[in-house]
Amino acid sequence: MQKDGEHGFWLYDLKVETVLDGRAPVCRHVEGEAFRVIGENLVFDGPAKLSMYALAAVLPLLPAKQRDTDPDDWMSTDAEVACPDPHCGGRLRIIREARRWYSHAATTGLPDQRGTPYWKDDK
Ligand SMILES: [Zn+2]
Repeated sequence: MQKDGEHGFWLYDLKVETVLDGRAPVCRHVEGEAFRVIGENLVFDGPAKLSMYALAAVLPLLPAKQRDTDPDDWMSTDAEVACPDPHCGGRLRIIREARRWYSHAATTGLPDQRGTPYWKDDK
């Protein structure tokens, strides 16, 4: 895909929010605590903390949620991931937010296609 003559791709920024909806947590799940996924980075606001077990459950889904998916794909419609502890009511809700453009040259590791890494660009 190209935008303004530059090869690249779109990714959604994601917000991953702890929800309980009345269920009792076993692990430390604080309703409303959240982090954002911006490109490859997990960005925590303030003092938010997250169980590494809950994080491990949600991590594999994040790259797919960042990308456009077919409206009938469950990846488009389903947004909550349960904590892996079967006795725990904690869930993480993945919310798609704005889309952001990433240049291929700024993100690839291929030496012959590599430009300035996105994290060194001031754009
Ligand atoms: Zn839990």
